[in-house]
Amino acid sequence: MTWRATVLTLFPEVFPGPLGASLAGRGLRDGLWRLDALDIRSFGIGRHRSVDDTPFGGGAGMVLRPDVVDAACGAALAEAPGRPLVALTPRGEPLTQSTVRDLAAEAGVVLLCGRYEGVDQRVVEARGMREISVGDYVLSGGETAAMVLLDACVRLLPGVMGAAESAEEESFAADGLLEYPHYTRPAEWNGLRVPEVLLSGHHADVARWRRAEAERVTRERRPDLWARFRAAPPVASAEGRAPPLAARHGAA
Ligand code: SAM
Repeated sequence: MTWRATVLTLFPEVFPGPLGASLAGRGLRDGLWRLDALDIRSFGIGRHRSVDDTPFGGGAGMVLRPDVVDAACGAALAEAPGRPLVALTPRGEPLTQSTVRDLAAEAGVVLLCGRYEGVDQRVVEARGMREISVGDYVLSGGETAAMVLLDACVRLLPGVMGAAESAEEESFAADGLLEYPHYTRPAEWNGLRVPEVLLSGHHADVARWRRAEAERVTRERRPDLWARFRAAPPVASAEGRAPPLAARHGAA
């Protein structure tokens, strides 16, 4: 069944944007997933199709009306029911690869893009929306956040990515580590040589080096991920993947 995304937005013209390029774009054209951008304004109130109003309690900006957003949600779900509703908001749970995997395993997703000050909280709760943030910063609107979430999900759909194993070894994959660094030709560039082990042709040594590098980079750059990994180091299962090095030897 085709994974189906509906984006509720005041700017439907920005889609598919970058999602129309490369592997995601080819998947879209090949029918591996489907994207509909639904204009919230078409559910607006009155002659001017009004979608927002001033915030109760005062303050700057405008807030998207619950009745308008609710009508848009209803229309999206009537087309393809049973999909989770996600409100993109800086107040939401941080988007992680684990959430991405969960959403990619659903029948699709309905994404609500806020604008201005955001969305009336009553419709978010009444519709049981999952509130998700793409990072601790404030964007002008949910559209770019929706693209981030969709890009991450779509590349996990069967048939979208070329080599199936590339998703298993990437950053945040099953073991929760960042990925090791990559190198390609020329073997020497501007006096800088590629690590010798990568030229050795010795697969087990390469796997061990990559694993050690993944651990080093995670330890140095992301103490939060490193602490989680150390707390529950998984048993290495995939063929060819070396066992944890630093974790087994007590690196802090
Ligand atoms: N007043 C809101 C606040 O301080 O939390 C920010 C509103 S922002 C200007 C407008 C819209 O952009 C939000 O409703 C949301 O849909 C989207 N947005 C902004 N930053 C985001 C983020 N980090 N993650 C997901 N969506 C975001």
